Amino acid sequence: MNLLIMGPAGSGKGTFSERIIEHYAIKHISTGDMLREHVKSQTELGKLAAGYMNAGKLVPSDVVNQMVEYTLAQDDCKAGWLLDGYPRTLEQANALEQITERIGRPIDAVIVLEVGLETLQDRITTRRVCPQCGAIYNIKSHPSKVPGICDQCGHELIQRKDDTLEELEVRMTEYHQNTEPVIEFYETKGLVHRIDGDRDRETIFGDIQEILDRIG
Ligand code: AMP
Repeated sequence: MNLLIMGPAGSGKGTFSERIIEHYAIKHISTGDMLREHVKSQTELGKLAAGYMNAGKLVPSDVVNQMVEYTLAQDDCKAGWLLDGYPRTLEQANALEQITERIGRPIDAVIVLEVGLETLQDRITTRRVCPQCGAIYNIKSHPSKVPGICDQCGHELIQRKDDTLEELEVRMTEYHQNTEPVIEFYETKGLVHRIDGDRDRETIFGDIQEILDRIG
């Protein structure tokens, strides 16, 4: 099963991606996580991406497209994949069309998480992440057992640099301008499944499961 998960910053893409890949045993490909890894390891790509990322802006598409194409061609993607945070622009969506054609693996479904602005603002400012293993917490709704420490690997939790109200505004503008047209693009192909992401986690995941079980 080859899937896309889309939604604005704070809509729950990371959280539900974790659940989906575990349940359906497919590979999680988060372009945001991959880029953060590059920044952490200070690769050439990381040095280029850091400025864009800290400002909440999109990293140039050609580098992101290449990164995705390389990843999808690896053996661990053969059983299926879930792309999270990509494509974010029509240019990237067209590149992905060509990539999926080349590798002979079409997209089966696009999950779109819809969440109101107030909820996003609340979630973004209370989100904490583990820089070591990528686990995601929320100090209000999903705290770690020991405050500030990751349950899974014991590393200290951090607040992402772009998880501020100012950066959220920039990211929302990016989303409306660039990513909503991508959703329309997949809508015309009949692939989009919109989910109300403003409910409790179990109800949301139940809906996602129902859709994916029908497809898979
Ligand atoms: P995310 O973790 O998906 O919110 O991504 C964090 C940041 O990484 C974004 O604000 C962008 O700067 C960059 N990024 C992630 N995915 C992409 C993409 N598909 N195209 C361009 N930039 C991206």
